[in-house]
Amino acid sequence: MTTANHSSPDNHPPDELLIGYSAGSLPLSQALCISAHLEHCNTCQRKLQRLNLVGSALMQQLQPSPTSARLKSSILDQLDNLIEEQTPPPSGTDSSVPRCLRQFIRGGYHNLNWKRVSKDISRIELCRDNNGARVELLKIRPGGAVATHTHLGDEYTVVLEGSFSDEKGLYQRGDFLRRDHNDRHTPVATHDRECICLAVSEGPIQLTGFFSRLLNPFIRRTHAG
Ligand SMILES: [Zn+2]
Repeated sequence: MTTANHSSPDNHPPDELLIGYSAGSLPLSQALCISAHLEHCNTCQRKLQRLNLVGSALMQQLQPSPTSARLKSSILDQLDNLIEEQTPPPSGTDSSVPRCLRQFIRGGYHNLNWKRVSKDISRIELCRDNNGARVELLKIRPGGAVATHTHLGDEYTVVLEGSFSDEKGLYQRGDFLRRDHNDRHTPVATHDRECICLAVSEGPIQLTGFFSRLLNPFIRRTHAG
């Protein structure tokens, strides 16, 4: 797993998510966010390698058998291959798109069928997880703002292009954020360029601004559909 961007992001997934990722127990939508972050983050790649080693050692203790050493070495070889894999993307693929998302984004971000949802925001749904979580890309125009909102479920965000800020800080390429229903926030893209984020929402968002009473029933219906 390699990337052209060698500087590590400042905001990382919490350990319990990396442990779940290592164990293969995360929902696909969360695993996609972790994968997208890992492609930008050497720190978490190293942490994941250690977790994988611990997991494989635990498995060995639980199921001792004459073949376990060989099995462990085979698993580690496969992990190494996965991490070192540097095959070039197929022609027509935008190399700035994380590898884990290329199955959804074949011709680059600008060839997607973006749907405009406000003067500042466009979105496109990539897929739905079995747990109902919506996996989508959000595009915020330079300086554009997302309406102030909270979440009825958890929301996971990974910055793919550009940067944005909210009440808690500035988030740049590769940064991973998890927000829950206690977080009320107003993301604003920085002025120099548009911002594209991978966003997974496990429940509808709840607008808290002036138009919230009018718009919230509509948002809930859209999310359910
Ligand atoms: Zn990280």
